[in-house]
Amino acid sequence: MASNPLAPFREDPAGSAILLDVDGTLAPIVDHPDLSVVPPATLEVIERLAQRYGLVAFVSGRTAVDAARLVPVIGVRFIGNHGFELLEDGVLQHAPGVDEWLPIVASTARAIAPIAAEVGAWVEDKGATLSVHLREAPDPVYAHEVLVMRAVPLINAAGLGWRWGRMTLEAHPPLARDKGTAVQHLLAQHPTILRSLYAGDDETDLDAFSVVDLAIAVTSGEAPPDLVAAAAIAVAGPAGLLKLLEALADSE
Ligand SMILES: [Mg+2]
Repeated sequence: MASNPLAPFREDPAGSAILLDVDGTLAPIVDHPDLSVVPPATLEVIERLAQRYGLVAFVSGRTAVDAARLVPVIGVRFIGNHGFELLEDGVLQHAPGVDEWLPIVASTARAIAPIAAEVGAWVEDKGATLSVHLREAPDPVYAHEVLVMRAVPLINAAGLGWRWGRMTLEAHPPLARDKGTAVQHLLAQHPTILRSLYAGDDETDLDAFSVVDLAIAVTSGEAPPDLVAAAAIAVAGPAGLLKLLEALADSE
């Protein structure tokens, strides 16, 4: 490998893809997802990347529309709901098979809501998936235990899949779709892309790490232990990633 793994990207931006998670990667983690902001300096760099690189896309657990609200940049793509949605040129598509699960996700979100409320957590119905947010719970460890005992059985009974993220429980249709498969699908649509990098901070980003050429861990005190081990580069938080993105944008 070249001494600087970014060099091939900087030398051939048109043949390179930059794929980025949003929360904890571009936007610092905050108590409530509605309060998240991508800093203006980061948006400015993303605009330059979008003009120069062959593919720039954002891959989020948020809905694709919500991710696009946080990153209002022209000419980029959004994979939302952990890979279950794609937003391209303003057109929103669900992954195959998702639509029939929408009412089941909605009814499960309603069934879990009172359990989450009891422990100070809350449920976000995101259409194709749902998230139970624990960050504002007074005792997140207790909230985690209660959700394992009472919410997870309801999710299982509904036939949905689930996994833990950073202070969230995510439930989704039982389809083989994640950030990794969604990135693979997106790259397959862009045959002129010869290399790709992905930056993320969470367990769900590991799926995308395994399908790109260069995986970048965005670390924090909450980073899952396997994140850095699975990455070629580690940067310290969104501020560290911004420096890396600036280096990519300053390519000749
Ligand atoms: Mg994240």
